[in-house]
Amino acid sequence: ENELLKIKNLSVEYRTDETVYHAVNNMSLEIGQGETLGLVGETGAGKTTLALSIMGLLPKDIGLVTEGEIVFNQRDICKLPEPELQKLRGSKISMIFQDPMTSLNPLMTVEKQIMEVLQVHNYHSNEDASNRVDEILQLVGIQPSRKVEYPHQFSGGMKQRVVIAMALACEPTLLIADEPTTALDVTIQAQILAMMNDLKQKLQTSMIMITHDLGIVAMICDKVAIVYSGEIIEKGTVEDIYSGSNHHPYTVGLFGSIPDLTKKTKRLSPIAGLMPDSADLPKGCKFHDRCPQAMEICRKQEPDIYIYGTHSIKCHLYAEGSENIETNY
Ligand code: SF4
Repeated sequence: ENELLKIKNLSVEYRTDETVYHAVNNMSLEIGQGETLGLVGETGAGKTTLALSIMGLLPKDIGLVTEGEIVFNQRDICKLPEPELQKLRGSKISMIFQDPMTSLNPLMTVEKQIMEVLQVHNYHSNEDASNRVDEILQLVGIQPSRKVEYPHQFSGGMKQRVVIAMALACEPTLLIADEPTTALDVTIQAQILAMMNDLKQKLQTSMIMITHDLGIVAMICDKVAIVYSGEIIEKGTVEDIYSGSNHHPYTVGLFGSIPDLTKKTKRLSPIAGLMPDSADLPKGCKFHDRCPQAMEICRKQEPDIYIYGTHSIKCHLYAEGSENIETNY
């Protein structure tokens, strides 16, 4: 098996003195070597919490993995001591955030910042690290001679290229990109995505792409997981999600209609209503308040996950005809 990451029945909570927020509820997913998974859903659905859990970066004393495992390269990340986690972060697993300035230090040249990442991990000599800086800048389409410049001397798109260079500097096997192009204008977005697509094929890096944009999913992803209220409610290959006829009512709502792979530029459609409060989750299907097809059972009983080959759907409508069922209990 070429599985790189396997998340099994993961639940994550945020706890304050009075309240428990159920941010991730019983999520399972797998990513193979070189594969890209698109994580799609509204803000607050649990996508970023999932990413932070994989990075071992949940806010200390507040964020807590309460159940399940995150197995990366055969090891459960949740059980690793902090020094081991630190070794993984930035070398084997790295993350790109929405706003490049979260990751860049305005007071340091680009060269110095990338060197720092390299020297924390495997490049100990200055010469090796410096050569690697040139190499990685070239890879992301920046003239190595610009390495002596500071972040403010770069445009938004170029800054994000620097961030991508930093993230890829140590050749991670898994890259998590949290809406990496949302802050950029449309033409630059397309250039950065084309570059990421190219790099992922060249370097065979596995990737989790967190996004609101279904066009990005169609362009760059092999698999898709649709997330709602901390749960994966539909999962499959890009073809399963964009063509196939069976979909979770939430997915249908998101795509504005039945998804269509030929219309690649669609953004998520707003669906009337709000996601439930994660501190007070409803019984039954979490989507029942907003679902046009809700039935009596939906208010009472949490749906199982129905599996059709590579495609799975968590909804009572699919109770008949699936090849397999994953129950939640
Ligand atoms: Fe709608 Fe019921 Fe399916 Fe939930 S389980 S999505 S409420 S039909």
